[in-house]
Amino acid sequence: MNIIIFGPPGAGKGTQAKYLVKKLNNFQVSTGDMLRDEINKETEIGKKIINIMNDGKFVDDEIVNTLLEKVIFDKSKKNKLIFDGYPRTIEQAKNLENLLERSGQKLNYILFLNVQKDSIIKRIEKRRILEERSDDDANTILKRYDTYMEITKPVLDYYSRNPNYHEVDGSQEIKEISSKIEQIIKEWDIDFK
Ligand code: AMP
Repeated sequence: MNIIIFGPPGAGKGTQAKYLVKKLNNFQVSTGDMLRDEINKETEIGKKIINIMNDGKFVDDEIVNTLLEKVIFDKSKKNKLIFDGYPRTIEQAKNLENLLERSGQKLNYILFLNVQKDSIIKRIEKRRILEERSDDDANTILKRYDTYMEITKPVLDYYSRNPNYHEVDGSQEIKEISSKIEQIIKEWDIDFK
């Protein structure tokens, strides 16, 4: 089963993706983690993107799409993908559809974690202390939120017409959100353990 977890920065996409990975024995596809990994390993890509990421801007589609393609065509991960932080642009959404079709896969669920700006800012401030992410400082958070509203929100409008689209109140406690997601998936898939 392939699932997109969609939502603004700080909505809890990573947390819920990890929950589903465990529950479904799937794989988390976090483009943010992949990009941070490139930075930590000081690769050519890492050197190119460090300032872009710290500035709260999006990394070029070309770089992100190349990283993503490897995962989608990895046979051991076929139909076991939980997307967290991808797609973030309409072009990426179209690219994902194309790659899934070419690799004989489909999208089973698009889950939107809906959280308001105030809660996001509080959550990211907490995460900054816990995870020491350099793009979680107050200024960058606001920039990342604005980028989301301007570029990523239209992707939501695009997906909201999809019959596999579901909205979840992301302002609730972690456990409540997981259980809501579980209800949605159970309604459609009896294999959910
Ligand atoms: P995340 O960990 O998903 O919050 O992503 C952290 C940062 O990585 C974002 O603010 C972007 O700079 C970059 N990034 C992650 N995913 C993407 C993507 N799909 N497209 C462009 N940039 C991305």
